[in-house]
Amino acid sequence: MSVAAAVKLENNNQNQRRLMVEEDSRQQISFTAPFTKDYSRPVLVVSKQRLRENARRFMAAMPRVRPHYAVKANPDMDILRTFKEEGTCFEVASIAEVDAMLKLGADMQTVFYSNPIKSPAAVAHAAKNGILWYSVDTPEEVAKISAIKPDAKLYIRIEVSNEGSSWPLAGKFGASPSGVDAVIETAKNLGMRICGVTFHVGSQCVNTNNWVEGIRAAKALFTKLSSHGFEPELLNMGGGYPLQFTGAEPAIEEIGAVINAELESIPENIQIMAEPGRYFAGSAGCLIAQVVGVATRDEVRWVYLDTGVYGGLMELTQDFPVTLISERTGEPGLWTMAGPTCDSIDVMGRHKLPANTEAEDFIYMPNLGAYCTTCACDFNGFPPPVMRLID
Ligand SMILES: *Cc1c(COP(=O)(O)O)cnc(C)c1O
Repeated sequence: MSVAAAVKLENNNQNQRRLMVEEDSRQQISFTAPFTKDYSRPVLVVSKQRLRENARRFMAAMPRVRPHYAVKANPDMDILRTFKEEGTCFEVASIAEVDAMLKLGADMQTVFYSNPIKSPAAVAHAAKNGILWYSVDTPEEVAKISAIKPDAKLYIRIEVSNEGSSWPLAGKFGASPSGVDAVIETAKNLGMRICGVTFHVGSQCVNTNNWVEGIRAAKALFTKLSSHGFEPELLNMGGGYPLQFTGAEPAIEEIGAVINAELESIPENIQIMAEPGRYFAGSAGCLIAQVVGVATRDEVRWVYLDTGVYGGLMELTQDFPVTLISERTGEPGLWTMAGPTCDSIDVMGRHKLPANTEAEDFIYMPNLGAYCTTCACDFNGFPPPVMRLID
């Protein structure tokens, strides 16, 4: 269920919209109104200033941690450029994301390839373009990389708890303790270097303890790697840093304090990085969508939006926290929210919106700067949201 109560929409006389979360002034973005004037499709408004603030706030919260923005969260070139100007590095997972780095003029030595399973063509493309660091979590991947890029620097992705994450990633990736042994053995046999350890706590993780456990597990693995003759030099804490939808989620400063304390026992010669995606881009974006129609079926009230699971709201199918703001004032009602397509999976759970909601109402959804436009397609002829970057 959504929590519209904590958020308000202000209209000032300069014709500006200001989205404000009452608890935290840093949660707000401002934009001028014309996005709804000649409206023809959903719009994701992204605030450049907010992107910059997010990067700065992250770096201030964890001074020893070098952020590598996870490009998949929002690969828009202007967004990448903005983060590059703020001095952040990058993490990629595909050939297209490698190409985005080339176009951006990123220092390829600092670009990390963190997808644990890469096609041989992708490894070759990355290697040809100067990427040195590759994530692995299986012996097969070590062998694959060794055949293409024998001087690669590998970092092992280990499994860690994803408890308390809205979008868990465990299960698909991450080596178990015996899996780690298999990776080490293969690397030794092939003369490949294992130079670091990584983990991913799951996306939108509100359980700070997952990072603590991950860092401790990495520390133990450093000792093991050294005993096998490797020289560990990298701790990569992955992504998962959460947005604050309700105010109940820990702020980045709180997470940073816990992580920083845990990092004190990591030797100085270990470089520490993270791969924030959602935290960097999410709060900078507000999606503006429109109600297509409302319907009552057996006393259940349905609201159909002009965008849905196919149009950038895929995450909402998983009980994902979302904030819905309507310009209509009225008693809240409970609605089953759906997208515009004829597909029955295009339904996004129950949410509160004013009971008097009608077709053509605008609905504002803050915190959707990440994993929205990049996951959208035009299935069934409905245009996906278009992104507009504002200063
Ligand atoms: C998706 C991903 C990230 C970013 O995750 P967020 O939850 O958006 O911070 C970082 N690293 C890897 C390897 C990923 O797959």
